[in-house]
Amino acid sequence: MRNESLTPAPVSDALLGFTPPTSPATSRHADRTLVDKYGRHVTYIRLSITDRCDFRCNYCMAEEMTFLPRAQVLTLEECLRVARTFVDLGVTKVRVTGGEPLVRQNVVWLLEQIAGLPGLKELVITTNGSQLDRFAPALRAAGVKRINVSLDTLRADRFRAITRVGDLSKVLRGLDAARAAGFQRVKLNTVMMRGSNDDELVDLVQFAVDRDIDISFIEEMPLGEIGHGRQSTYLGSEEALASLEQRFVLLPSTESSGGPARYWRIPGTATRVGFISPHSHNFCESCNRVRITARGDLYPCLGNNDAVPLLPLLRAHPTDDAPLRAAIVHGMGIKAKGHDFSRQMDAPQVVRFMSMTGG
Ligand code: SAM
Ligand code: SF4
Repeated sequence: MRNESLTPAPVSDALLGFTPPTSPATSRHADRTLVDKYGRHVTYIRLSITDRCDFRCNYCMAEEMTFLPRAQVLTLEECLRVARTFVDLGVTKVRVTGGEPLVRQNVVWLLEQIAGLPGLKELVITTNGSQLDRFAPALRAAGVKRINVSLDTLRADRFRAITRVGDLSKVLRGLDAARAAGFQRVKLNTVMMRGSNDDELVDLVQFAVDRDIDISFIEEMPLGEIGHGRQSTYLGSEEALASLEQRFVLLPSTESSGGPARYWRIPGTATRVGFISPHSHNFCESCNRVRITARGDLYPCLGNNDAVPLLPLLRAHPTDDAPLRAAIVHGMGIKAKGHDFSRQMDAPQVVRFMSMTGG
């Protein structure tokens, strides 16, 4: 089956002819804060710097993908300009993601530049780990504070089946390299899938405990047409938690990373076990983030198709940031109150792939 990662998101008619408003309605950017119409402060962006990836994880992508033509992808300078403008508007945390961010040429230059933006507190990255063994020291030197690594299984054959092409040993070497480079709290991200890795949740937690690192389990989300139904593989957090409790003592924690994860501690260990549960525990009320795709579309909500295209503005106004700022402020005004991923998982509720939006 052939599938297109560049399927245009159905941007609402009003936005297609978007003209930046002259006065912000829902944000006080003079105060350097972005606030949406429900009073949520947006302080965190997830910036996808490429839709390309060296893996083809079966919950994320179709087997055959057509990636965006390069001209439709933000250049690194444009990525930096977007990040700089958001930071100027009060954003304090940037996560660089993808696709696979470490396959983008000169990614380290971009990371160094973002890390140096005045006002930014935290630059973090999400990666599949395939390139981490060679990149870890450079990421650290560039100013990346934390790394999330996706790891769904500890079995090489299964890893190959899930990623379709990946080599588990390279990712494990990457995790070692991150530690050797001085990254303290690497976090694993595991998408839970019934009939695929549901029998490995305990092993994955033990793996994290043995390395003093964190792990978050993610409920699969209905993003993009991936070529197989998701209904049968969906595994909810409560069931996963119950199975972990048979092996570990898990104490609920009030700690928060400011994100959607709820955390549990395992006494006597350094490990936090998180659950990201868009289906069973909607986290929209406290949402503090927006996403920018590799093609420069600002998505105020992961679970919603409304977007503000920033790329035309960037290119039409190469030296004037005012239209870009106004478009970002406008984006706050259309941030949905919440997503509604129903359990009807087989039809994608959001037409774009996660690799497009950036996880
Ligand atoms: N390539 C990098 C990686 O895999 O970590 C960064 C991009 S990836 C899209 C970001 C995160 O999204 C990964 O942790 C991945 O497991 C998760 N993800 C992808 N598709 C998903 C889906 N349909 N539901 C839930 N999580 C998904
Ligand atoms: Fe690539 Fe990450 Fe998607 Fe896997 S989850 S296909 S590694 S973008």
